[in-house]
Amino acid sequence: LSSEKYNIHRKDFGRIESSDVDYFRSVLGQDRVLTEESDVLPYNVDWIKNCRGQSKAVLKPKSTEEVSTILKYCNERKLAVCPQGGNTGLVGGSVPVFDEIVISFSLMNKIIDLDDLSGALVCEAGCVLENLDNYVRERGLIMPLDLGAKGTCHIGGNASTNAGGLRLLRYGNLHGSILGVEAVKADGTVIDCLRSLKKDNTGYHLKHLFIGSEGTLGLVTKVAIHCPVLPKSVNLGFFGVKNFGNVLKLYKSAKSKLGEILSAFEMADFDSINFTAKNLKLPNPISDYPFYVLVETHGSEETHDGEKLTRFLTNEMESGLILDGTVTSEPAKMQTIWNLRESIAAAGLVGGYVFKYDVSIPLKNFYDLVPILKKRLGDKATKVFGYGHVGDGNIHINVTVPQYNKEVSSMLEPFIFEEVSKLNGSISAEHGIGFRKPKYIHYSKDQSALGLMKDLKQLMDPNGILNPYKVLPDHI
Ligand code: FAD
Repeated sequence: LSSEKYNIHRKDFGRIESSDVDYFRSVLGQDRVLTEESDVLPYNVDWIKNCRGQSKAVLKPKSTEEVSTILKYCNERKLAVCPQGGNTGLVGGSVPVFDEIVISFSLMNKIIDLDDLSGALVCEAGCVLENLDNYVRERGLIMPLDLGAKGTCHIGGNASTNAGGLRLLRYGNLHGSILGVEAVKADGTVIDCLRSLKKDNTGYHLKHLFIGSEGTLGLVTKVAIHCPVLPKSVNLGFFGVKNFGNVLKLYKSAKSKLGEILSAFEMADFDSINFTAKNLKLPNPISDYPFYVLVETHGSEETHDGEKLTRFLTNEMESGLILDGTVTSEPAKMQTIWNLRESIAAAGLVGGYVFKYDVSIPLKNFYDLVPILKKRLGDKATKVFGYGHVGDGNIHINVTVPQYNKEVSSMLEPFIFEEVSKLNGSISAEHGIGFRKPKYIHYSKDQSALGLMKDLKQLMDPNGILNPYKVLPDHI
């Protein structure tokens, strides 16, 4: 159990009683209050199967009013809650630690409005990202974010984690794309910041309090988000590269030669790709290389964009930066390549346990930690591999072992966070702090900033019922 594994104590919250269940049923109806152990279990376990809570109840509201009514009641009874979207989070934030009541957004999945001129989409928090993307694509737009978990994660979860993903390089992060938010505070107050304007400098930008705060300041119920235009032409290159120095040179060259059409620049080392291809039986369209680079373009002119990327490949093969590669605009081939890249996160879970780190590091030191960890762990790890979003300075480092192992864990933490801090990086680039990292947050946040976080939490959730044990360290 996570509570034993991480040695923490339950806080002094109320315990759910049958009268509480009766109340929730009077608000939501019989079917939308789950209390059977087997029904509740999937909501207690996170995607990566690192954390498991002991919740006894899952509530499934269908409207903001229902969320507000439930929260008001929980706040008065001091019952702690854990908001849950698609439960694809990778830091244990989306599952309870003890018996927090899960509030699942899965039934709040209505699209409210799309302005295809401005690109503003307004929808409920429980809409699945891929469903939204399919919906706006039919109307000439795309969602401004894309990630491997798109088929399951919710837009409310994305907003609450400020999810990054594969095209942040081009379309920016959610603090920029989210136009407005509706959220419910711990006491049930509905905060209406659901504007869909690009510009709105009227007072404090309160929506940002809810973007990336991982459900600790309020529950996101609706989101207004800006959708960019569907690119008429998409091209993808997949290249083999000799060493990491050359990956960086290639990135510099891609920025200057592909310029305005560059939409993604991703890297993966040999073990990331080889392990994924083998474990998940996926094809690798080129042969074995120490590093792989995936370059995507989004543009408006097929001939121009295709020629530009093909010329990039030819030139950089001549220069020696690319050893071999392929360029395609065929949807099925592009899908095969993206699938290989997007599946790396899942490959580590096959046949063992994986320690996952999501850090940003200044580019010149981006890959340094992988060889350092390989040396430190020796044969105690099955694999240590690194992959990620070069354009955002964000590397994911995975360490696989046959099963969870305290010795390896203590060799990794806090060592890895100390190293990241020495390199002036961030210990959480895009996944958040969740349950896994509050005690390490000081490696990336100054005491003054932590103090203000604590004040905000106290102001918005004085009883601390919203996602306790997450994000904020116990002693600030
Ligand atoms: P959940 O996992 O359910 O919740 C995440 C956090 O948000 C929790 O703290 C939860 O309490 C809170 N929360 C959820 N919904 C709400 C709400 N409505 N109101 C308030 N709080 C809420 N992340 C990236 O940033 N970039 C990637 O490229 C990326 N790739 C991934 C690939 C795979 C295969 C997987 C499994 C995960 C990946 N992730 C990535 C992590 C994860 O998908 C994102 O963090 C995603 O935004 C989580 O959305 P979710 O709906 O699953 O949220």
